[in-house]
Amino acid sequence: MKTLRVAMPAAFDPRARDRIAGEFDALTLERPDPALVPAELRESIRGLAAGLSPDWIPVIDALPSLEIIANFGVGYDPKSSLHAIERGIVVTHTPGVLDEEVADTAVALLLNTVREFYSAEEWLRQGRWTGEGNYRLTPLTLRDRTVGIYGLGRIGKAIARRLEAFGLSIRYHNRSRATDVAYPYHDTLLDLAEAVDTLVCVVPGTPETRHTVNAQVLEALGPNGVLVNIGRGTVIDEAALVAALSKGTIAGAGLDVFENEPDVPEELIAMRNVCLLPHVGSASVHTRGLMGDLVADNLVSWFSKGETLTAVPEARHLAKRSGR
Ligand code: NDP
Repeated sequence: MKTLRVAMPAAFDPRARDRIAGEFDALTLERPDPALVPAELRESIRGLAAGLSPDWIPVIDALPSLEIIANFGVGYDPKSSLHAIERGIVVTHTPGVLDEEVADTAVALLLNTVREFYSAEEWLRQGRWTGEGNYRLTPLTLRDRTVGIYGLGRIGKAIARRLEAFGLSIRYHNRSRATDVAYPYHDTLLDLAEAVDTLVCVVPGTPETRHTVNAQVLEALGPNGVLVNIGRGTVIDEAALVAALSKGTIAGAGLDVFENEPDVPEELIAMRNVCLLPHVGSASVHTRGLMGDLVADNLVSWFSKGETLTAVPEARHLAKRSGR
């Protein structure tokens, strides 16, 4: 397969980069700009590996022989992915291999938010324990919480399993009822928010989920309410969240993802009742390595057997190669 040309970003996951460079004739791009693809190579590029975003659309359109895009991540940008699929290009992603890591992060985020461990550590490091005494008792606790999971899929179930072991009761909302769990189902997000005091969001960032966590949903969580978002930033109406946190409509939030990453609203940064992480849900060498392998394995499988391993649901009809 060394003669098969696959493009990827110069700043890419190291494992995916090494595997792709080892298997294919790899072309690296400094940024998603079609001007950087030499005109004489465009016809020959048959695969692309990247963390897709709308910026990649002009590159996709400049590559007439592109057959497959291996997205790095289980979440995939709907605009560029659907654009590629409409052109008959198969798109793959990395489901399953990151579930436990992301669920660990979600639980850490929830615990940090209610028990303020980020502030308590700062207290120690700043010498205030010796100077001023004990850190304050936290007004919030994980004890006796009822957790609503918005998006009980692969990662949502891994979060639910952990929180059950913490002795908490779990409820959830999806578009459809899951057949393999006994947790109570709510057929609307608002109904779920009314029944719980803790909402963990782990739905994909799609046009359908955009800003679904709005002022009304936050109000329904109530003054003891805690919001955790480990899914995608677009799911939360960030302006409504800032207002709800500053007015005491809800008590706190733990966020790993934001609407305009890496920009985080100044208002959130200034608040003490929020725990903020820079999108690190899956970010360990171990798990990113598994994701990198799955990116490369999808490309290898496509070009050697004519089949993908993990096509995105919208591209499953394309996931077998038809002798191009
Ligand atoms: P899954 O597809 O397994 O689960 C998604 C769940 O969301 C399903 O249960 C689905 O149920 C539900 N869902 C989808 N759309 C809607 C909707 N419009 N309304 C209500 N429920 C909906 O995905 P994963 O668990 O593997 O991943 C979930 C997301 O987590 C990813 O898409 C990604 O955005 C994010 N993620 C974040 C990471 C981070 O670093 N912070 C790392 C990895 C993933 P149904 O189809 O029945 O509606």
